[in-house]
Amino acid sequence: MGFAVEHECPQCGGAIAMDEADRLFRCPYCAVSSFVANTEPFCFVLPTRVQAAEPLYVPFIRFRGAVYTCQGLEVSHRVLDVTHLGFPHPRLPVSLGFRPQVMKMRFVSPELPGFFLPCHLSLAEALARMNNNPLRAQQAHVFHRAHIGEACSFIYLPTARRGNVLYDLVTDSVLGPLLDDQNERLIPAARPEWRPLFLPALCPDCGANLAGDKESVVLFCPNCESAWEPGKTGYQPLAYETPFADNVGATTVLLPCWRVSAMADRLQTLADFMRLTNQPKVIAPEWETRPLNFITPAFKLRPKIYLRLAGQLTLAQTGLTSGAAAMEKTPYPVNLPKSEGVESLKIILASIAVAKKNIMPLLPDLHFQIKGITLLLVPFQDNGETLYQEQLDINISKQDLGFGQGL
Ligand SMILES: [Zn+2]
Ligand SMILES: [Zn+2]
Repeated sequence: MGFAVEHECPQCGGAIAMDEADRLFRCPYCAVSSFVANTEPFCFVLPTRVQAAEPLYVPFIRFRGAVYTCQGLEVSHRVLDVTHLGFPHPRLPVSLGFRPQVMKMRFVSPELPGFFLPCHLSLAEALARMNNNPLRAQQAHVFHRAHIGEACSFIYLPTARRGNVLYDLVTDSVLGPLLDDQNERLIPAARPEWRPLFLPALCPDCGANLAGDKESVVLFCPNCESAWEPGKTGYQPLAYETPFADNVGATTVLLPCWRVSAMADRLQTLADFMRLTNQPKVIAPEWETRPLNFITPAFKLRPKIYLRLAGQLTLAQTGLTSGAAAMEKTPYPVNLPKSEGVESLKIILASIAVAKKNIMPLLPDLHFQIKGITLLLVPFQDNGETLYQEQLDINISKQDLGFGQGL
């Protein structure tokens, strides 16, 4: 279950309620749709129950998503829903506990009074600390871990110094003894890049309404057939291709996928990939020079389905011809950013490998060089209960698609 966020409509000031992972919202008062276009994780603050002249905000790292672990000869996965202290200190609580579930968060705004403790951990470091479970360490060796996030953000807990204690302004209770790190360099005000960047959901090229769902990270313009993603200064045009575009008809669903062109020491070409993963296929001579692509779903799915589909699409790349950019209908929403596609390369490699014992030990020292990332809109035919991609012979049940949304 996601944490709730409240803020004001950038157009009319009306109250907006949304989920922590939402980006696109339509104001119920002025009917204008807006998009939160930040490229970095959102920064939220919990509301204070009691006032303080000079609050001190303590950073927490928020992660909700799937953790994939390559351990022994297996690729396993589990869903993680956590907060973790970003300023490691023995006197501070390691997580936010239930606070965000009972309070509505707000975006950090530059007007917020008070000081911020710096966040000393990256998301990767915080997750590594949480995964450092001594019980698990006794089991088979962990070769690689990947975190495919559905919600990643920073959440600030407002506190105040009172006498010799640090006071929690959310729960209205003592948090712990006063921190002795008086020399710690505090951040005097919210940094400008922490505030939400609201953009009207209008096509920068033609002015038409952009299409997407609330968690979309890419918006589509059905009018001029363009795709847009958040950039440092607003919307950035996103190149896409539609393979088998001639087959798009009334019952077609365009499923978005990331095609990540990647290369590593032992994986220079598609032929290298097929050999290293021991695929039961005859290596075609042209594969020796063909670049290697990974093809990952660009939408949320349960971990098991995500791995299966990414594996099938990646193995089917020989049947994928490059297509023109065509958007005869609005594609299925893109709610998994390209960074998560890149994050999943090693787990796809490991899950595809027929002889896992050859692959697993290579994972720690395998460093992919990313050559390019393109959005593919792959046409699937709606057969009632399933969507079917005829040319690649890949199925996905509509139930599995729906399940991914509320993970
Ligand atoms: Zn409004
Ligand atoms: Zn347009």
